Amino acid sequence: MNLLDLDAAALERYCTGLGEKPFRARQLLRWIHQRGASDFGVMTDIAKVFRDRLAAEHLIAGPDVVSDSTASDGTRKWLLRVDAANAIETVFIPEGDVAARAAGIVIDDEDDEGRYRGTLCVSSQAGCALECSFCSTGYQGFNRNLSTAEIIGQLWHANAALGRQPGGERLITNVVMMGMGEPLANFDAVVSAMSLMLDDNAYGLSRRRVTLSTSGLVPQMDRLAQTLPVALAVSLHAPTDALRDVLVPINRKYPLAELMAACRRYIDYAPRDFVTFEYIMLDGVNDSLDHARQLLALTRDVPCKFNLIPFNPFPQSDYRRSPAERVRAFARVLIDGGRVATTRKTRGDDIDAACGQLAGQVTDKTRRASKRIPIVADASSGGAQ
Ligand code: SAH
Ligand code: SF4
Repeated sequence: MNLLDLDAAALERYCTGLGEKPFRARQLLRWIHQRGASDFGVMTDIAKVFRDRLAAEHLIAGPDVVSDSTASDGTRKWLLRVDAANAIETVFIPEGDVAARAAGIVIDDEDDEGRYRGTLCVSSQAGCALECSFCSTGYQGFNRNLSTAEIIGQLWHANAALGRQPGGERLITNVVMMGMGEPLANFDAVVSAMSLMLDDNAYGLSRRRVTLSTSGLVPQMDRLAQTLPVALAVSLHAPTDALRDVLVPINRKYPLAELMAACRRYIDYAPRDFVTFEYIMLDGVNDSLDHARQLLALTRDVPCKFNLIPFNPFPQSDYRRSPAERVRAFARVLIDGGRVATTRKTRGDDIDAACGQLAGQVTDKTRRASKRIPIVADASSGGAQ
């Protein structure tokens, strides 16, 4: 067994099942996740007999690195092999000031208070089954869910590869489940990996610094609220069902009224008192001032912030990015309507690491690409204007 597959509760069950005290599990967690150990031999505060037994039966195995590239803005992307047929992508995005410079990272952004922030964008599936028409991951099809080890292994690996800030602090301060895949469609493994992100004996991140982004799987949003309510981002992308049905097809199953109600319910459990709505800006499709006004009406009763995302093109896509002026005017309508609206900086696009460009190497089991109809025709027939 790969011990990266076990969260704190599972590791404790495992240790006590062998007649060991529960604190053995905490020691193991600290070695594996805080110190990045992959060799049981270094765990000198654990009895040698137990270490030998662990080494004989188990391993601690991070993902194999296929490629490692750094963009001109300091964004770094790893392509990680998860099995013979599939490789997934993980992206590190440094923002802010002093420590980034010390680490030799070029910065062009910062958090609200101007401090350093290092965000790791983590994948949850090999491909994605949900077929959003503007997304490279969705375009390539779906193969399988990632295991807990494959999800937390991305953070384990990135921490080791990045090292620490000069003060001993970790470079990764935030995690966003915004890489390849729909995290709520792989619920158990994602929750188990996120519980390690939050565990004080592992990565010790606060629930505010771990964000899950979903295209809107309503029942699983409720389940997350009850299980592990981290910060929530919802990929909205359209103010009407007619348009969202086309852009985010899962909307046909969970339409906007249900999605808004689920967001309202989530806020009672969320670590922040708002939900973030992600809104991709597609030229001539969903970016008119009318669309912005419709969004104000739609979200009237939902405490929320908007994050406008400039569309990032990928080879098979026919959409275009909205002009900067249109994005500004759109944001202005939202702000004048009393909402907070920010525009996401595009990071790492020179290494295809920007939002929606992650494709990895996924063997598609759905044979989707061969069935696909042109996406521009899709968008206009859905009443996009
Ligand atoms: N499946 C989840 C999380 C992964 S996608 C979700 O859909 O929310 C993370 C974010 O990137 C989502 O908001 C998604 O809509 C956005 N995205 C997808 N394709 C994009 C593209 N080509 N350009 C910019 N953003 C994109
Ligand atoms: Fe899947 Fe998210 Fe891409 Fe939609 S945007 S296809 S849900 S990864």
